Amino acid sequence: MTLEGLEKTFGRGTRVVKGIDLHIEDGELVTLVGPSGCGKSTLLNLIAGLERPTGGHVRIDGRIVDALSPKERGVAMVFQSYALYPHLTVRKNIAFPLEIEGLTRAEIERRVAETAERLGIAALLDRKPKELSGGQRQRVALGRAIVRRPTLCLFDEPLSNLDAALRAQMRVEIKKLHESLKATFVYVTHDQAEAMTLSDRVVVLHEGVVAQEAPPREIYARPANLFVAKFLGAPR
Ligand code: ATP
Ligand code: MG
Repeated sequence: MTLEGLEKTFGRGTRVVKGIDLHIEDGELVTLVGPSGCGKSTLLNLIAGLERPTGGHVRIDGRIVDALSPKERGVAMVFQSYALYPHLTVRKNIAFPLEIEGLTRAEIERRVAETAERLGIAALLDRKPKELSGGQRQRVALGRAIVRRPTLCLFDEPLSNLDAALRAQMRVEIKKLHESLKATFVYVTHDQAEAMTLSDRVVVLHEGVVAQEAPPREIYARPANLFVAKFLGAPR
């Protein structure tokens, strides 16, 4: 996935993404960090196709996808709020993207079962979201995202509603998921421990530009500028 001079200006004046060039290798897990309002969610939305760029391009598998809808891009997105359908069972929530695709009943059943197994929620398939804990809901949201076997998954602070212990546990599971899916993950987080432990490479965003991109250890050892040093040093 490659961003080429990507720009986003809202309305007449708010320039939020200011010419981002970034290449993410197939199968890489990159975390995206930066202060509130620096443009992280906007950037993910541009990659997903939920927002249109006002300049530059998004390239997925070598192809410029600017004109494609989120579905056509084959990109999965997981949000902080689980965004599950409250009136549908876990099974139906996970199956939903496949029903839209028109797969056969048998194929849908098979894929839902496989996905639920992978995420440890096979016993919860007949429940409704309100009968689940926060961690279980987030697993269902993950299931719904990966059931189409996307090659690119975008995460917007998916664990920030969970308590510290559960967050640490889910972090391990997301890492495992990444290894078994062999998909590219772009993962936005406020949690520096998460960025450090989860990713091969951290991208620090500052006011709509990339302040630094490097492996976690290198970012801490050699922050590229005062902003990065202060941001990483700041207690949260
Ligand atoms: P947070 O860490 O708080 O989630 P963020 O880095 O994800 O922040 P964004 O949500 O990308 O930040 O927002 C970046 C800036 O763009 C903010 O100043 C926000 O007010 C502005 N913005 C986002 N969406 C819109 C919109 N639809 N119209 C106008 N301005 C917007
Ligand atoms: Mg955000």
